[in-house]
Amino acid sequence: MKKNILILGAGGVANVVAHKCAQHNDILGNICLASRTLSKCDAIIDSVERKNNLKDSSKALYSRQIDAMDIDATAQLIEDTHSEIVINVGSPFINMSVLQACLKTGAAYIDTAIHEDPDKICENPPWYANYEWKYLDACKEKGLTAILGAGFDPGVVNAYCAYALKHEFDKINVIDIMDVNAGDHGKYFSTNFDPEINLREILEDVGYWEDRQWKECGHHEISRSYPFPVAGEQKVYLMGHDEVHSLSINMDVDTVRFWMGFGDHYLNCFQVLENIGLLSHEPVTTAEGQQVIPLKVVKACLPDPSSLAAGYTGKTCIGNLIKGEKDGKEKTIFIYNICDHQECYKEVESQAISYTAGVPPVAAATLVAKGIWDVKKMVNVEELDADPFLDLLKTMGLPTSIRIEEC
Ligand code: NDP
Repeated sequence: MKKNILILGAGGVANVVAHKCAQHNDILGNICLASRTLSKCDAIIDSVERKNNLKDSSKALYSRQIDAMDIDATAQLIEDTHSEIVINVGSPFINMSVLQACLKTGAAYIDTAIHEDPDKICENPPWYANYEWKYLDACKEKGLTAILGAGFDPGVVNAYCAYALKHEFDKINVIDIMDVNAGDHGKYFSTNFDPEINLREILEDVGYWEDRQWKECGHHEISRSYPFPVAGEQKVYLMGHDEVHSLSINMDVDTVRFWMGFGDHYLNCFQVLENIGLLSHEPVTTAEGQQVIPLKVVKACLPDPSSLAAGYTGKTCIGNLIKGEKDGKEKTIFIYNICDHQECYKEVESQAISYTAGVPPVAAATLVAKGIWDVKKMVNVEELDADPFLDLLKTMGLPTSIRIEEC
């Protein structure tokens, strides 16, 4: 059994991770929440206590301040806290330093997003090969368990692919991952997770895997409409996304694409910000001689995504439309989850986007703690057995449904 969790980051996703770890602390042990801003960690701990989510009160839940870009300091923190599992839900800029700290100490590593270099918006595919996969050999040699992209998308949607191949298909040809938020936060404009990362992700040229080759188009250039369960008919746009980069390699399929729903108002705001240069990650100098990065200023002006939770209504639907063959016949399924913003708030004072991202890494940590996913190498989620993961997620608030579609 691996014990004691170090959670890195103190944003909306970390809030959910902390609540869920606390609900399972009889298995996971002591929990340390560490981030750049200590007061944010303490506010999360207050929330866990307010909701009475600490299952075993003999186990500790406490905070530490850390700059996770500092490998030695992070390794020291892992040792001081006797943490055997690190859940990295800080900014994706810290992935490589946290992974190296885990390699130094032997603590298992779990994250929910691909590493990003602050100076680059786009990367050559497969993106993982530019950063995380460079450590495949090091992890294997050290016997280090490193589970990449274990949020919802990436994460659960990767497990949906593995599950579909095991139980629903003899062969999969096309995977279309689709993510819609049919909810309302009542703000004029806001992103649902870290604005800097979210807006960078939308700005990227769209890389997608189609007919067994990488193709590219501009953002919001290609769209489709799909009748989602519960959320109804929604327009979704082709986007670049983490999971396409691993599924294209690991699933042996013709096509993997990622689609996200955007309302017209969101797109209008986004286009204005982009057209006047406010989404740039390059520094500009003001008339007063101050250097600022426009995107970071926009982030500072927008609502903190975790502050959206209290008034959020409606539901999210995230799932995979999968086409393939079963018993010599064509088959299509939509495998998905529905999550309700208000239910999430009641349970963990969070909205559904953070909830769907934050519950899965805790399920992954629980499976690592029990030895079921303690694979002692670096993997993406689709390389693991999906059954125990999806079973556990069902009990943790993220059930899976399957709709058989007309071919
Ligand atoms: P937030 O921006 O709200 O939180 C990020 C946290 O990381 C902040 O608390 C921030 O500290 C902290 N942080 C940043 N840099 C450092 C550093 N050098 N050292 C220590 N802490 C640092 O993000 P979210 O909670 O919305 O998202 C967290 C992660 O989850 C992101 O990687 C995001 O991409 C991912 N995600 C994954 C999803 C999935 O389904 N797979 C979906 C949604 C998000 P400070 O408060 O001081 O700025």
